[in-house]
Amino acid sequence: MSQPPPTDGTTPVVRAVDLQKSFGPVHVLRGVSLQVRAGEVLCVMGPSGSGKSTFLRCINQLERLDGGELWLREDLVGYRLRGGRLHELTEREIARQRRGIGMVFQRFNLFPHMTALGNVLEGPIRALGHNRAAAETAARRLLDRVGLSDKYDAYPAQLSGGQQQRVAIARALAMEPYLMLFDEPTSALDPELVGEVLDVMKSLAADGMTMIVVTHEVGFAREVGDTLVFMDEGVVVESGPPGIVLGAPQHPRTQEFLSRVL
Ligand code: ADP
Ligand code: MG
Repeated sequence: MSQPPPTDGTTPVVRAVDLQKSFGPVHVLRGVSLQVRAGEVLCVMGPSGSGKSTFLRCINQLERLDGGELWLREDLVGYRLRGGRLHELTEREIARQRRGIGMVFQRFNLFPHMTALGNVLEGPIRALGHNRAAAETAARRLLDRVGLSDKYDAYPAQLSGGQQQRVAIARALAMEPYLMLFDEPTSALDPELVGEVLDVMKSLAADGMTMIVVTHEVGFAREVGDTLVFMDEGVVVESGPPGIVLGAPQHPRTQEFLSRVL
């Protein structure tokens, strides 16, 4: 087991060391190591099937790790340590951890029978125990922040994909996360709606939110990312400042991938 992170204010928000994850015989994560510091935006690119979603799902503990270590701030949440010793969190600890992590998916997954406001209110009332009046005030403020002041009472079916995705971002923010995970948040959108969602993410980053963003939006990565990681077949093959990775990729897999998306 590696040393616990320092507690002098420089503790990374996420520290992954040699993460391993298999589904049956399929070895999906084959030793992913990286870290994300407070206020940083880490962008992740890589071909389909390279393990990007699985990596996010492990951070959010929607999947259990098979090996390596995962630290979230001061907490070791990874399960199997080198040498086979098992580190288990209780269900309650997992729930506590997950409450602090917001996740936005490619498909917006809003509750269809609730208004935009209802979708944003649900978590704070149910999971955080906030009272309705305070939760409503906060929810309105969040919808304002994502540019939806005129859509409080709209149902998801009455909203465009870009508007729904912005509600999904507001809903995640309502849980007051310390970390936001985005899994190809604009991949399901019509091209003309991509910009409005990226703009919201850009403003979040400017406000200092710590973010991991799986995206193939090269312009976003270049402008907003502090680090760009390129994944292939379950490992990080290249990592660095986005301008450098995008401008002069070193690994043949990165070069090949970028020649297709650029
Ligand atoms: P990416 O997001 O980079 O496209 P994923 O993390 O979704 O990649 O998937 C990586 C590999 O893991 C793929 O081969 C996929 O089929 C497999 N996989 C992902 N989730 C599961 C699962 N729940 N059960 C079995 N295989 C899975
Ligand atoms: Mg994916």
